Amino acid sequence: MTITRELMSILLAGCLLAGCATINSAIDPAAQETLYQVSTFRALQEGVYDGEVTTGELTRHGDLGIGTFNALDGELMLLGTEVFCFRADGTVTQMPDRTPTPFASVTFFDADIQQPLSRLTDYPIFQTQVDATLPTLNLPYAVRIDGTFSYLKTRAPRRQTAPYPRLVDALAHQPEFEYRNVKGTILGFRLPPFMSAVNVPGWHLHFISSNRAAGGHVLAFTVDEARLMLDATPNVMLVLPQRGAFSQADLSRDTSREVTAIEGARAGRN
Ligand code: ZN
Repeated sequence: MTITRELMSILLAGCLLAGCATINSAIDPAAQETLYQVSTFRALQEGVYDGEVTTGELTRHGDLGIGTFNALDGELMLLGTEVFCFRADGTVTQMPDRTPTPFASVTFFDADIQQPLSRLTDYPIFQTQVDATLPTLNLPYAVRIDGTFSYLKTRAPRRQTAPYPRLVDALAHQPEFEYRNVKGTILGFRLPPFMSAVNVPGWHLHFISSNRAAGGHVLAFTVDEARLMLDATPNVMLVLPQRGAFSQADLSRDTSREVTAIEGARAGRN
């Protein structure tokens, strides 16, 4: 049979977190509890910056998510049915459905856990406190925080040109953006360490402001007033490219030491 897509899908099924999910009847329950993952973080680390999955495809597999665009041209945020790009020049653009992505993670968000965040909660405190309250650290969680942030710091990668550098080099010098008293949504995932070859272990969050004027990969924040929602996603659907640089990339190296530098060590994340 002819393979009509450039992709191979592997469905890794986990166990449902008993009794915590509210099912939206309009969406397949399995899809609701599934993290749809395009390519792997390891491949991104090795400079595989071009993919063929489109933003339109992402919206068929989720209504909340993060990632990047081909050539590493900005930070991706999926919120509802809209996909936004926050670029290194500080602009936010809503992207058309046909825009390709080399790396993204999305899910249909349905909060299992909701709680207010205390004023002055910052990113390190947030990670420590939420980790301590999660029922298990061994499942992926989608996260959404809506509110006002007295301080928020993000970054965005510069568009790369082929031949592409490795991710740790591409992100060595990238613009950072600071916002004060900004209202919006922080969204992303908390993933267990054992998923580190597939995606960023721990917390990985992006931001989009309510007025769609600010955004980026979150390096730091301080809560003024905000509400946290978490959604356990025990299933993982991993979609791997069958062509292009992914096929030839050396994905066997241990790149775990580069993760801290890539994900924001300068912002004091633990
Ligand atoms: Zn990011």
